[in-house]
Amino acid sequence: MATVISGKEVSQKVKGEVREKALALKEKGIEVGLAVVIVGDNPASRVYVNSKKKACEEVGFNSYEYALPEETTQQELLDLVEVLNNDEKVNGILVQLPLPKQIDENAIINAISPDKDVDAFHPFNVGKIMIGEYAFLPCTPAGIMELIDSTGVEIAGKSCVVIGRSNIVGKPMSMLLLHRSGTVTVCHSKTKNLKEICQNADILVAAVGRPNFVTGDMVKEGAVVIDVGINRMEDGKLCGDVNFAEAEKKASYITPVPGGVGPMTIAMLMKNTLTAAMIKNNITE
Ligand code: NAD
Repeated sequence: MATVISGKEVSQKVKGEVREKALALKEKGIEVGLAVVIVGDNPASRVYVNSKKKACEEVGFNSYEYALPEETTQQELLDLVEVLNNDEKVNGILVQLPLPKQIDENAIINAISPDKDVDAFHPFNVGKIMIGEYAFLPCTPAGIMELIDSTGVEIAGKSCVVIGRSNIVGKPMSMLLLHRSGTVTVCHSKTKNLKEICQNADILVAAVGRPNFVTGDMVKEGAVVIDVGINRMEDGKLCGDVNFAEAEKKASYITPVPGGVGPMTIAMLMKNTLTAAMIKNNITE
């Protein structure tokens, strides 16, 4: 039976460290600020934005919420981003995705100053991640690395399989595992022999967006299984991409949904915002 990795516990630890450093900055007269922008009233986005604001409170940051109406134009949002880029109180800018269809998400991401891009979605930061010289790591993959490290399992030389190739999760995840010398295979919707590839994974990361997609027979005995999926079922409950009951019989470590990757994403956002404030103020430790 697998040990369940508690994202709640690991995220509390990360937030605790961020809080300590934020307090030390406050003593130097430096306050950390995160601007959170939400456009429209997507209920899932509202939940995420509220959690991010709450996390800011927990770690002692100022949060500035900008709630814009559904019919906001791209230019209006670009204008706000420009204001925030120039706002001294704002260290990080978080524009909650998805955006309404009249707004090109890439245009917004490209407009955020790379120094305040705490999601690490700007092409400049994506490129930095590729060459391993980054200030910010994308929050979900960075949180997953913390979860894997919390197990004490060595990544170097291991067979790592990532299911999903999105810009937000799959691609950067594969890059972070590669930086740590994992032998990485990225699977996607066109992959053949997915089951066989997964059966060989010492570390298996599922970011597909399909409930119970990874079944027990796809999991190698003793594997570390990370479930990124957040799928809302008809009964309102959340379900991951991994069939937990089946996979936990074979894995050595496994993350639950909820309470696994989700809380880590927010903790890493706090960490990135702190990093942005430290860089701006030339503080190294
Ligand atoms: P996405 O839809 O952008 O990407 C899904 C990926 O799955 C694609 O690359 C696709 O090729 C692959 N895929 C689809 N069907 C497949 C199949 N049959 N076989 C193999 N691969 C297949 O999704 P995303 O943004 O990467 O998110 C993935 C999941 O993770 C979603 O459930 C999302 O809600 C969740 N998520 C969670 C967090 C968190 O903080 N926990 C953060 C981001 C995303």
